[in-house]
Amino acid sequence: RPRRLPGDAADLVELRPWQEALRAQFPQITADESLAYLDSAATSQKPRQVLDAVQRYLTTTNANAGRGSYPWANETTALVGRTADRLRRFLGDPDPGRSGVHFVSGATEGLRAVARDWLPGLLRDGDEIVVPFGDHQANLVPWRETVDLLAREGRHVRLRPLPCQASSGDYDPAALARMVGARTRFVAATHVHHVYGGDMNVHRIREVVGPRVPICLDAAQGIGHLPLSVAELDVDFVVFSGHKALALPGSGAVWARNARGPVFRPGGWSGTQNTAGIVSLGAALDWLEAAGVRRVSRWTTALAARLTEGLRRLAPYEVLGCGLSLAADSAVQRRVGIVTFRHRDIGSDDLGFILYSHGFMVRADSLCQAGVDEREGSVRVSLHVYNTPGEVDRLLAVLATLR
Ligand code: PLP
Repeated sequence: RPRRLPGDAADLVELRPWQEALRAQFPQITADESLAYLDSAATSQKPRQVLDAVQRYLTTTNANAGRGSYPWANETTALVGRTADRLRRFLGDPDPGRSGVHFVSGATEGLRAVARDWLPGLLRDGDEIVVPFGDHQANLVPWRETVDLLAREGRHVRLRPLPCQASSGDYDPAALARMVGARTRFVAATHVHHVYGGDMNVHRIREVVGPRVPICLDAAQGIGHLPLSVAELDVDFVVFSGHKALALPGSGAVWARNARGPVFRPGGWSGTQNTAGIVSLGAALDWLEAAGVRRVSRWTTALAARLTEGLRRLAPYEVLGCGLSLAADSAVQRRVGIVTFRHRDIGSDDLGFILYSHGFMVRADSLCQAGVDEREGSVRVSLHVYNTPGEVDRLLAVLATLR
């Protein structure tokens, strides 16, 4: 019997009872079954367990963290510490005594914190940093700003652009090898691409750059969708947004391999933290671990494959990054729950509007992709564990009517 890949169509049958039980835990999803939320890469819906944890916290021990010595304040401080430890376990941190966790408002703030507060201390005149060109702007703009700031001080650092190949949907290790040299001090990369949905195979970066170059991973689209082990990937920073991973808006984290490295948000504990967001993040990680990230990944990958295969049979549509193969061989790149496509004749605004008139909520604009000013015509469908094969089939049926 041929080996089954994660995200095989059979997964949709095998995992259905598990998925139905999980979907029932999302109140906003089940409130109106005529609507289909297909925009989870923008932000996710929240399970009851996360909402309950936040309500419990805000009605029992809400206080400020890191100040005050009465029980509510102590409990809130302890909650922040427990959530940091929770995240370390979730990321498979092999050395939790050494690492640092910094809670931030999301991936944008987290990447900017690494770029502003940590990176300048590493860079000397003539150094080079490798950063992605063609991923999310949040993973390009802060590096560029830091390079500009340093140039004003007379430290000239060169940006080396790491392209995402449309043919395979990940980075080209040969191109990376050509740009890495003795002056390479830092690499920024993305875990899962927010337009193509591909696993960017980040483990290959460490193989190319060697053991000493710090790697910062933007895991905004990966967290909860694809297992992420910092030990396996051998990265130095992981940055993500909680709201894309079933937690509240305004929550997110930077995990740093070495706690003594960056000085985040100078002043440190002098600012009040988003404790309700941090509580929601802990609850979301508990929920995801109990659900099983590997199973979530199989589910959303299989849904994305069903959508891609359906779109390929519809002449007016083009799936972006279509070099991503669905063939059953070991070199396969599968889409982790994200499919972006365009219609030959219908612009993205119109397509988004038509789809919403049928109850489908999708993303229809520029998608914040660096280097791409206009994504005219493209629409992104992004899936999470609560989405169903029925929603994908209904969407395909509507798309088939748009000649
Ligand atoms: N990085 C990637 C890959 C993203 O997809 C996004 C958001 O879509 C971000 C970073 C920025 O996340 P946030 O808006 O939560 O800060």
